[in-house]
Amino acid sequence: AKEEGRNNSQIFAPEMNFRVDLLFSMEKDLRLALERGELFLQYQPQADLASGTLRGIEALIRWQHPVKGLVSPAEFIPVAEETGQITAIGEWVLRTACTQMAEWRKAGLPDLSMAVNLSIRQLRQPILGDMVRSILQETGLEPRCLELEITEGIMMGDNQVAMRFLNEMQALGVQLSIDDFGTGFSSLNYLKMLPVNKLKIDQSFIRDIETDEGDAAIIRSIISLGHRLNLRVIAEGVETQEQLDFLRIRGCDEIQGYFYARPLAADAVMAFVRNPPRL
Ligand code: C2E
Ligand code: CA
Ligand code: CA
Ligand code: CA
Repeated sequence: AKEEGRNNSQIFAPEMNFRVDLLFSMEKDLRLALERGELFLQYQPQADLASGTLRGIEALIRWQHPVKGLVSPAEFIPVAEETGQITAIGEWVLRTACTQMAEWRKAGLPDLSMAVNLSIRQLRQPILGDMVRSILQETGLEPRCLELEITEGIMMGDNQVAMRFLNEMQALGVQLSIDDFGTGFSSLNYLKMLPVNKLKIDQSFIRDIETDEGDAAIIRSIISLGHRLNLRVIAEGVETQEQLDFLRIRGCDEIQGYFYARPLAADAVMAFVRNPPRL
């Protein structure tokens, strides 16, 4: 890409400026978003396949932009990672999700886990461990009710800070899972070293589960690998009964996806919990 850029600099330069402008304006918008309370969380239920019951919830960030409307995290999280704003946004997500879960626990929600996504950039912050501990203290949420989702990318480059954090979280009793599993490049040797509890099979493998032999084989391998390492395995992006059946027969432990529930607004969660669909 570098070579191309040099050869076509006249063609690419305006586009690059456009990209930089876009980054700057989104950075400013994001700063305002935090200040003005335009960010909020939705909560997507996860089901246990053996019992067919609700098992956990994943917090997913949303941005209600005053002009653009609802902006997808797929659009603004990468920008926040690039600008470094992810650390402030990530702290807000953690505090909001834990506060919400502690509230629901008081209102009678059973012992479920609240999964929160962490970006690589957050995991490189040496103070992240202190932050999680003080948020748990502040909110009174039991550590076992918090689950942190990390990606395989964590193993790339210098991961000392991240490894220390993960070990600290494990000692504390916080659950850890590897998100988007199968899409990164981590070796199995690394997987053995990571103190995690769960593998989350990426939704790209689920989509064509019935027709794509390769995807089906990968899913079977991930499930048996996970079980051999004593990890729970969850599949995300499950949209149909057929996908669910496939996963259940192969011994997958949990699912998340539109088939069970869409991401819900906070005030819809208790109603869902009182009357969840049976799988
Ligand atoms: P992810 O962590 O892999 O989250 C799963 C995504 O799949 C979510 O997209 C969810 O809404 C979507 N999804 C759930 N069930 C289904 C289904 O059955 N079918 C399909 N097609 N999609 C389904 P969303 O909410 O747009 O989030 C996109 C990504 O943005 C997330 O992927 C995650 O990487 C990132 N993200 C979201 N919230 C946060 C956050 O608080 N912090 C960080 N660092 N990243 C976040
Ligand atoms: Ca996730
Ligand atoms: Ca994922
Ligand atoms: Ca993803």
